[in-house]
Amino acid sequence: MSQNRNTQKRKPRRGLPFNPFNVMWFIIAAVIIGWWLVGDTNSPSESSWNEVEQMVEKGQVEKIVVVNRDVARVYLTPQAIEEYRTQSEYATLPDHDWQFQFNIGSVDSFREDLKSAETEYGHAVPVSYANEGGGWGDALISFLPWLVFIGIWIFMMRSMSGGGGGGGQGVFNVGKAKAQVFDKNNANRITFKDVAGLEEAKVEIMEIVDFLRTPQKYRDLGGKIPKGALLVGPPGTGKTLLAKAVAGEANVPFLSMSGSDFVEMFVGVGASRVRDLFQQAKEKAPCIVFIDEIDAIGRARGKNAGVSGTDARENTLNQLLTEMDGFASNAGVIVLAATNRVDILDKALTRAGRFDRQIEVGRPDVVERRQIFDVHLRNIKTDSDLDREFLAKQTPGFSGADIANVCNETALIAARHDKKTVGKDDFMAAVDRIIGGLEKRNKIITPEEKRKIAFHEAGHATVSWLLEEASPLIKVTIIPRGKALGAAWYLPEERQLTTRAQMMDEMASLLGGRVSEALNFGEVSTGALNDLERATKMAYSMVAYYGMGSQTGNISFYDSTGQSDFAMTKPYSERTAEKIDAEAKALLEQAYAMAEKVLTENNEGLTRLAERLLEKEVVFTDDLVDIFGKRKKDIAKELAEAAQNAEPTMEEPTADEVAEA
Ligand code: ADP
Ligand code: MG
Ligand code: ZN
Repeated sequence: MSQNRNTQKRKPRRGLPFNPFNVMWFIIAAVIIGWWLVGDTNSPSESSWNEVEQMVEKGQVEKIVVVNRDVARVYLTPQAIEEYRTQSEYATLPDHDWQFQFNIGSVDSFREDLKSAETEYGHAVPVSYANEGGGWGDALISFLPWLVFIGIWIFMMRSMSGGGGGGGQGVFNVGKAKAQVFDKNNANRITFKDVAGLEEAKVEIMEIVDFLRTPQKYRDLGGKIPKGALLVGPPGTGKTLLAKAVAGEANVPFLSMSGSDFVEMFVGVGASRVRDLFQQAKEKAPCIVFIDEIDAIGRARGKNAGVSGTDARENTLNQLLTEMDGFASNAGVIVLAATNRVDILDKALTRAGRFDRQIEVGRPDVVERRQIFDVHLRNIKTDSDLDREFLAKQTPGFSGADIANVCNETALIAARHDKKTVGKDDFMAAVDRIIGGLEKRNKIITPEEKRKIAFHEAGHATVSWLLEEASPLIKVTIIPRGKALGAAWYLPEERQLTTRAQMMDEMASLLGGRVSEALNFGEVSTGALNDLERATKMAYSMVAYYGMGSQTGNISFYDSTGQSDFAMTKPYSERTAEKIDAEAKALLEQAYAMAEKVLTENNEGLTRLAERLLEKEVVFTDDLVDIFGKRKKDIAKELAEAAQNAEPTMEEPTADEVAEA
């Protein structure tokens, strides 16, 4: 969506604005040039007293100037200069100023040496003393490393803090909040028309905007205007989109920042950015501040203590809490925030008085999915008879972002086949592709392997078809796709509660693949890796989370707060751990036995199904009905729905791929 982001107001860039940053570069450039110039001129030659003594002996020295009681500059007579210049070593000796210089140890010893030389050789040498601040070149040269260092440092700062929105530049603005300010007049701004479904969320959020626009109405009734609202929901469900739409519709200034914008390498930057953000907001009030992905800063405090960076984040969060308390509720600043991890947010943040409201932005249902398709198909040329209801039914559990992705993928697939419009087939291919990755028809699979895969998949299909409580299957394939060698699509019941019996049947169907291999080939393969992983997790969650273990009883070690770190310590004793292990193992064995029973009793049907799979590569509900008859439980009603709500189950990475991963 970033390409649709409303353009932010940005100061027009002038040619070379006078800012400290540019001045710094000028100085650095000047120094380098100066250094180069100085280095290029004829410079005096370094010398020593011994050499100079010889010059004194030959009467070549015109005078000596001692500078800063430290360096003696030797001025030669013009004839002597000529003489020296004939030697290649001294060819570049300067003909003005001094020609040699050397460090005198101390002025006293120098005077003594010179005096004795004068008396010995009979040539008087005038000596004078001077104090100098050193040439500008010298000074700059000695500063050069510093300047270069500072330059690099600034450059790093600049590139580190460059990311955010526009506005702030360089180290001098590191503590400034680079909030994105939305432009209401932008032609392709996002409006509520771009957000499909989410009706309740829209109503709630517009109510908040209404508070801002006509606060008096609410205050007259004695009501307090909320300070903030939290958009909560799984990824890709349109939280950010909704916030952008508010920006486009609200007609109040909208400052947007992402939680990660506050996090920076420098300690204290986050807190000062929060301060700055609210400062800006107060100046613009009434206005909306939007903090996307707030979990980046709002994570519960006091966790992972000692990990570096935690302190800075806590400061940022504390600052945010303070700011939200800071302005009176009539100050006209409302904070919107979005997250998909409300469970890990600090409780202080979600308490009433800060984010008073939580607005649920959930996964779309069939009707909403249809509307989302409508939004995203606006710019796609579809077949005139394209059934959008059908598309919505085929994409259960998809988020808005997934649907946007399907639409885009569809167009790509159609383009690949040089079509002028996109049709149902393209959509189905796109959906399958997004669920399971690309079909890999040319993956090399030997006939024996193919046979094993077919029996494995048929095992899943048979068990799930015949066990009453398992999700009915609607499609099985042995075409490799993505990492999976085969796949089965199930229709999960839309239910809020899952019973123990349902979980057991589910586990049995997961193990059905392995059982089938064992029964039909007398040996098992690595193909069941994913099945086993999922079944094991399920068994453990039954015991340790849902309190379904017969030995362990009604306990749960589930941590809804996400605050404690189970990686280090388990919240139960070794004895309990052993019990949990034993219980989970027993559950898995029980499920295995269930699958084994079903498959032994229906081995004939299983074999027929496997053969059919080998022959057709894909089988559907009808084939299962054909072989096993209708499921006792579902009958007509569910079958009608079956086509609608397929949910895929990917599985079976090969041993190689597991090794790769
Ligand atoms: P998140 O909830 O993770 O912030 P986004 O708002 O970034 O999700 O949604 C990602 C993309 O998915 C959007 O840019 C949009 O294209 C699509 N999308 C999600 N929800 C909807 C919706 N309700 N209506 C239309 N498009 C949606
Ligand atoms: Mg988002
Ligand atoms: Zn399997």
